Amino acid sequence: MVHTAHGYWLAEAGPVTPAPALEEEASADVVIIGGGYTGMWTAWQLRERGASVLLLEGELCGHGPSGRNGGFCETLWTHLPSLVERFGRERALELCLASGESVRSIGAWCEEEGVDAWFTPGGYVMASTAPAHDAVLDEILAAAPGDRVRPLSAEETRARCDSPRFRRGLLVADDATVQPARLALGLRAKLLDVIRERSRVTAVRSGPREVVVETASGGRVRAGAAVLAMNAATRGVPPLRHRLSVTSSHIVLTEPVPDVIEDLGWTGGECITDARTFVHYFRTTRDGRIAFGWGGGRLAAGARLHGKVEVDPEVATETHAHLVDMFPQIEGRAITHAWGGPIDVSPSHLPQIGTLDDGPVHYAFGFTGNGVGPSHLAGRALAALASGESTDLAVTDPNPVRVPGEPLAITGGTLVRRAFLRKERLEEAGARVDLVTRAAVAAPRALGMHVAR
Ligand SMILES: Cc1cc2nc3c(=O)[nH]c(=O)nc-3n(C[C@H](O)[C@H](O)[C@H](O)COP(=O)(O)OP(=O)(O)OC[C@H]3O[C@@H](n4cnc5c(N)ncnc54)[C@H](O)[C@@H]3O)c2cc1C
Repeated sequence: MVHTAHGYWLAEAGPVTPAPALEEEASADVVIIGGGYTGMWTAWQLRERGASVLLLEGELCGHGPSGRNGGFCETLWTHLPSLVERFGRERALELCLASGESVRSIGAWCEEEGVDAWFTPGGYVMASTAPAHDAVLDEILAAAPGDRVRPLSAEETRARCDSPRFRRGLLVADDATVQPARLALGLRAKLLDVIRERSRVTAVRSGPREVVVETASGGRVRAGAAVLAMNAATRGVPPLRHRLSVTSSHIVLTEPVPDVIEDLGWTGGECITDARTFVHYFRTTRDGRIAFGWGGGRLAAGARLHGKVEVDPEVATETHAHLVDMFPQIEGRAITHAWGGPIDVSPSHLPQIGTLDDGPVHYAFGFTGNGVGPSHLAGRALAALASGESTDLAVTDPNPVRVPGEPLAITGGTLVRRAFLRKERLEEAGARVDLVTRAAVAAPRALGMHVAR
């Protein structure tokens, strides 16, 4: 098995030649910091509007989570209950519909631009794997319009994918899958003329109408506005550092197993998760494999990324065991690849898209493991904000909860993680969850934080 930070998708998509670093003085209408989907969709939208753009990426565009994720290209429908709680029903529905437009636009963009990102509009299934998790489905189904999210009986769920663990499910037909690195590198290729790589931004200074940005490569940009699209690295940006925490997720990939996929009846291209807090997510690939991910990775201390956040053999081994538990037929089949990456968790589990108080610096972060589709929506919002327009797509929690500083965040977060893992293990075994575990699991809610969706 090859266990690396970058994983299978980037290897499958093929190598890239780095764009030149920024070593000189430059100017642009908008400078974008970060070359994942968020930064690149923003650049794309701004260019469509006729603005001059410079995108600065610390490493290589699309080589962070955007090129390594599970490829679930989702709408926001499963977040409808949280969106209603924060923004009221009307705005919440508008946001979900806009997120559907984004998924469709990604598919259309691939078609129009000739980017073969394996876009497959196969829908998303959430399947409950324990009685205690049925309520998660029911809450979403009660809130969502029936033409967008529909219930699946046990038979209907298992007809789509026959795991013995599935009880019943729900279907979001608007969701899709992509080969994430092909999408990210496809965007990168279309934007190469405005991209500078290996140009890590070390300072952002903003006045009322101008922003000056400096890079470790010796460059400096003057711009009318800046966009921070740095994902988990936002944890290192002082005005935003208390608005997110960073955890990690790992994926294991099987060798081609078309016979198992056929046996499971899993031929509709659906991406699937269970309804756990530390979610299992899984999908098939065009080359007949199963990619199986787990959101139960370790927390990062502060803004410190890399290390076990990206390569964690223990978590990868556990993820493999969970895969076999979900699909016993996989026992004995080879795992060819494992990889991982950071997750930018916002306390409400909802993306945060807005503007800093002291100048034209706009940001998006907090996708909380659901950024492939919503980063396109964020790109639309950020392009509008950076063009001086207001937009209903800019969403920030009305009263953002503060994530504690270190070392409290890592210590408390690690304890809460252990409690959730224990709770979910007990629930799936049909055992009673003890009082201490229940109290530990409830603690974040008392601080206004959602650990689950
Ligand atoms: C293992 C894993 C599985 C996932 N699965 C899914 C999934 O199936 N579906 C889904 O919707 N989401 C999933 N996600 C989350 C999804 O990948 C992210 O939400 C999405 O890629 C975020 O895009 P982004 O552009 O905001 O961030 P990124 O892709 O992280 O891009 C940010 C970029 O900013 C750069 N950067 C940071 N700091 C600086 C600086 N100072 N100067 C210059 N550049 C800087 C980084 O190098 C990076 O390239 C998963 C994530 C992981 C790790």
